[in-house]
Amino acid sequence: MQDSFKTTCCYCGVGCGIVVHRDRLGKLTVEGDKDHPVNRGMLCSKGMNLHYTVMDTSDRLLHPEMRYNRNLPRQRVSWDQALGRTAAVFSQIIRRYGPESVAFYASGQCLTEEYYVVNKLIKGFIGSNNIDTNSRLCMSSAVAAYKMALGEDAVPGSYDDIEHTDCIFVAGANPAWCHPILWRRVEAARAANPRLKIIVSDPRVTQSCAMADVHLQLNPGTDIVLHHALGRILIEKGKTDPAFIHQHTEGFEAYREAVMQRSIEEAALICGIDAADIYAAAGHIAGAKGFMTMWTMGLNQSAVGVRKNLSLINLHLITGHIGKPGSGPFSLTGQPNAMGGREVGGLANLLPAHRVLDNPEHRREVAAFWGGGELSPKPGLTATQMFEAMHSGQLKAIWIMCSNPLVSLPDARFMEAALQKAMFVVVQEISNKPETLRYADVVLPAAAWAEKEGTMTNAERRISYLTKITDAPGEALPDSEIICRFAQKMGYHGFDYPHVSAIYEEHCRLTAGTNIDITGLNYNVLREQRSVQWPYPAGATGHGTPRLFTDHQFYTAHQKAVIHSFGDENTSAPPDRDYPLILTTGRIRDQWHTMSKTGKVSKLKQHIDAAFLEIHPDDARTRNIRQNDMVEVTSGNGMVRVKALLSTTIKKGVVFLPMHWGKILNNDLHRANNLTNNLVDPVSKQPDLKFTAVAVARYEKP
Ligand code: SF4
Repeated sequence: MQDSFKTTCCYCGVGCGIVVHRDRLGKLTVEGDKDHPVNRGMLCSKGMNLHYTVMDTSDRLLHPEMRYNRNLPRQRVSWDQALGRTAAVFSQIIRRYGPESVAFYASGQCLTEEYYVVNKLIKGFIGSNNIDTNSRLCMSSAVAAYKMALGEDAVPGSYDDIEHTDCIFVAGANPAWCHPILWRRVEAARAANPRLKIIVSDPRVTQSCAMADVHLQLNPGTDIVLHHALGRILIEKGKTDPAFIHQHTEGFEAYREAVMQRSIEEAALICGIDAADIYAAAGHIAGAKGFMTMWTMGLNQSAVGVRKNLSLINLHLITGHIGKPGSGPFSLTGQPNAMGGREVGGLANLLPAHRVLDNPEHRREVAAFWGGGELSPKPGLTATQMFEAMHSGQLKAIWIMCSNPLVSLPDARFMEAALQKAMFVVVQEISNKPETLRYADVVLPAAAWAEKEGTMTNAERRISYLTKITDAPGEALPDSEIICRFAQKMGYHGFDYPHVSAIYEEHCRLTAGTNIDITGLNYNVLREQRSVQWPYPAGATGHGTPRLFTDHQFYTAHQKAVIHSFGDENTSAPPDRDYPLILTTGRIRDQWHTMSKTGKVSKLKQHIDAAFLEIHPDDARTRNIRQNDMVEVTSGNGMVRVKALLSTTIKKGVVFLPMHWGKILNNDLHRANNLTNNLVDPVSKQPDLKFTAVAVARYEKP
């Protein structure tokens, strides 16, 4: 006898449906949900092994812990003691230093309801906008670009467009490893339609290049040069859509002037690729009836991330490939609920339902709805700014939820020094492994995936309901309940929800009249429909809205999309004589983020079990480095010591380190972010994680 539950994978933004089976002894097994529109029964290696992360509770935090003195170990305490002291310390700090002296750092893995209550707490009641999340490291450049070009943070299409397109341009992404089920759909689409052309731009020959008709192995940081060159060819060959440009966009003339600044040959030289390949890629775009772009961190994690995004979106706006089946820009979300977090306004510069902080009417609406008092117009601290403010002593207390910033943030040693200086650190976590716990004054044990219910939104605006399948171990509680209990300890009203569904219903009500209206949703609708795509206004039926902008009316003031024009320079710190190579960081196939979950599953270590530095054999030879030699990688910020992996799949002058590994025992020499700097895009504040000047040398044991 066994029970079966339908839920959603909690790793990447693809958002696959999962069926979890629980036998009478409580043992869990998983399989892909054949009825789910995203994955149709398929699961990748991470999803297939998800149940092990729940069943193995050996690393789980079971009780709240607290300490009064950083030199002493933390002691087990009751929830009442932990939250009571935290409320007392937060209240005292706020009284003494003001509401901007405290901050919450959350995660794109939090459920929408969790995001909602923590955002309501800090913005609506504490009175500051100091909430940001690790989504700042993931999607913020894409979000800013969508808003600037289309007037709204809205992915126009659906995964179903893959089956209707005949050209896909994958820019700065390796979906074959990082969004595997989405890539299987691309593979299936190619098998069904051999005319489907695939273009990939990436400094590395990744698994996603195996299917590419054209691989543009460009130099890091030259994406805008490439996108402008493609734009120039499309204009010169008469392959734009003049009627669409005229009726539905603005800014084309300035764009034409900008892209004509460089010849294709000059662009090819800067990008380090053949001009013939740029022409070939442009030819595929020009000949396509449906044109999709897919991208992730290669564009987003950059000092010019917003411009990289805009330059890619421009290719859709000049060809009219948007709002039609098989066409549209499609940013692939890294985390499972980065989009849900933005829906509730869970970032330093946002308000619920994509309202904006600098609009007084929006602030008034939200304040009136929450009933806690006026909202501050001052933008809060973004992810890296929080840690800089802690380092300078301006930020006194931080509450970290479901994230491990000491491994994931850039310039990790600086971030660690910042955390050491904080007056008070709260960490809300499921596992006792994350490095960040070392600095926690209070530790709050949280329920994990399958131990709580709530909702998430995937990369195609699809909201899924996640059911509770098993009880959390020890005294661990759902994150939303922890925040609500704390808010009540602080004396705030409006956090006494009878059930988590009431949080969701409140969030839905607050979307009324906005572009992301989901007033037609509640848990019953979601349980019945399984998943729906927003918007889903009151009275809506079925599965929601698969495609936006079908009428070519955009969410800008004049309903026209904006073609932005700008120069193509990269503003990253360039390589020099001391640091002559460019480091790029990223994921491997079977690990997730800082390995708090995937690191527990031995099957997932069979693929790659240790950090490594991928380096071109020519760069290795000049440094006397052989395969598997230990190498030291240094930058202006720190050092990493790992084994060398010599490979011709990486461009000369570029090296690659996976981002997952943190401290192993007391040794932090595998942590890629020892090397990265905290340069950010000026608009999105997303860190420049894909471009760090480094030196590499063979390591000789002293
Ligand atoms: Fe989970 Fe992403 Fe794999 Fe789907 S592709 S099973 S959502 S990790």
